[in-house]
Amino acid sequence: MDAVCVAEAIRHAGQAGPPTGPPAGDASGDDPGRTRTVVIGSGFGGLAAALRARALGHQVTILERLDQPGGRARVFRRDGFTFDAGPTVITAPELLDELWALFGESRADHVTLLPVRPWYRIRFHDGRHFDYGGRLEEMAAKVAAFSPADEAGFRRLAERTRRLYEVGYRQLGAVPFHRAGTMLRAVPSLLRLGGWRSLHALVSRYVADESLRRVFTLQTLLIGGHPYRSPALYALIQHLEREGGVWFARGGTTAIITQLAALARRHGIVLRTDSTVTQVLTAGGRASGVRLQDGSTVAADVVIANADAPAVYADLVPPRLRRRWSDRRLRRLQPSMGLFVLYFGTTRRYEDTAHHTIILGRRYRELLDDVFGTTAGLPDDPSLYLHRPTATDPSLAPPGQDAFYVLAPVPNLRAPIDWARGRTAMRDRVVAMLSARELPGLEDCIVSESVLTPVEFARDYLARDGAGFSVAPTLRQSAFFRFHNRCGDVPGLYLVGAGTHPGAGVPGVLTSAKVVETMLREMSPILGTVA
Ligand SMILES: Cc1cc2nc3c(=O)[nH]c(=O)nc-3n(C[C@H](O)[C@H](O)[C@H](O)COP(=O)(O)OP(=O)(O)OC[C@H]3O[C@@H](n4cnc5c(N)ncnc54)[C@H](O)[C@@H]3O)c2cc1C
Repeated sequence: MDAVCVAEAIRHAGQAGPPTGPPAGDASGDDPGRTRTVVIGSGFGGLAAALRARALGHQVTILERLDQPGGRARVFRRDGFTFDAGPTVITAPELLDELWALFGESRADHVTLLPVRPWYRIRFHDGRHFDYGGRLEEMAAKVAAFSPADEAGFRRLAERTRRLYEVGYRQLGAVPFHRAGTMLRAVPSLLRLGGWRSLHALVSRYVADESLRRVFTLQTLLIGGHPYRSPALYALIQHLEREGGVWFARGGTTAIITQLAALARRHGIVLRTDSTVTQVLTAGGRASGVRLQDGSTVAADVVIANADAPAVYADLVPPRLRRRWSDRRLRRLQPSMGLFVLYFGTTRRYEDTAHHTIILGRRYRELLDDVFGTTAGLPDDPSLYLHRPTATDPSLAPPGQDAFYVLAPVPNLRAPIDWARGRTAMRDRVVAMLSARELPGLEDCIVSESVLTPVEFARDYLARDGAGFSVAPTLRQSAFFRFHNRCGDVPGLYLVGAGTHPGAGVPGVLTSAKVVETMLREMSPILGTVA
């Protein structure tokens, strides 16, 4: 770190309260007075971290390997359809609002969030369904109508999720979790709240109906977790939804990415696509920049990696610098499940289909064990999440038509599945299931289809094991035990995104960027490391 950067760091370390941000239009071109920060990857986490570093006054460059920003939230546009590739359920909108507020702007001037009702419809194999969503009283009424005996238990569960949210999200979510002391301080309250038992065990204490148990446990699947193996701490997602609602961006999630990228550029962040980083460079033991696939280098004082956290250590940090994350230890990690995603348009509209529908098969735990394991093949009876964005925003398809994607959890690449053959088999299975249970006659009206499997997750996003959500949120891979947002081995290297604390999902990765901002503020100019 040169003397001017040290002066800059001192200034920021001494800042109190929210950053005021650089003046609008201030270019981040070569300015020796600023800390140079490189962000590897432009997923939600990378974009948010870049904006937060910029608001602290850094000169920021984002390097993204794909031809567009967004990562898992990229977009496919074809034949008049707009297909969001990944996240569609937008929760905790205040985390997005904060990013515009950093620069004195308002999110609402750039992105319109539309309410979604129901939040999601859950269809059971016996033909019944549950429309999930609404504030406490509305949800309690729905539970009472579905299973009267469970209403009181649901209310107690809701109170428990509120308390878990207060501790796990409000108090600890955005706190740097790289010190054991932080964890130790959190343990008593989390133990008291049963945060370490499995989510399914917690929910089963309060709710007896087997279908409702599924309703109140499947949320961990949205962040890559097995409901029977993820800690109950993640029940906080239920309260997060109730607190902030469930939203969809007009124009699709891609509208949020487009506007975040525009915000970044407006405030001088350089965003380079088609730029794959192959190594984090170091000088004197600390991060000094990155090398790209074409052999060029970009110098930096701070490197923030939004690439998949296990891949950052396995592929970008030289082995001689890795004390904590040896190859052996990385192999022992449990990746989340893989995803099979079919994007398709239809020649007609399915007016009765909700925006978000979860279609469950007969098997639940057994299917989950198969999907999270490494020995089963592709499931014969998958459970599905069906996204119909045109229910909320018809502009995403040509008039009179619908855009969809359907997602099936499947084993990741650790399972010996031949995806060259499996993709067609899985596609036919999924279409037949949709046709039978939700979209009659689908086989005859599909147009414009494409597929992502774990193979493409690995190829495109460089996701280890083709995992849909990086490492799984098990007890041993959560909080202090998850990838820290600061690399303990290479000062100046930080990590954001799904594999890091607090975890996957848009709220999780946006929060990981807040954690990194806190650490950047703590940068110690004297030692050239962080406190
Ligand atoms: C199909 C699907 C549906 C989902 N639905 C929801 C939902 O409804 N709601 C929700 O909240 N969450 C959802 N999620 C989860 C959520 O999308 C992710 O957890 C989140 O978007 C991940 O963001 P990230 O910051 O970790 O970055 P990622 O999106 O993983 O992006 C990382 C970026 O880094 C780039 N990169 C990697 N390596 C390099 C390198 N070496 N050099 C340069 N660039 C590199 C990649 O190309 C990528 O663009 C879903 C995920 C999927 C896959």
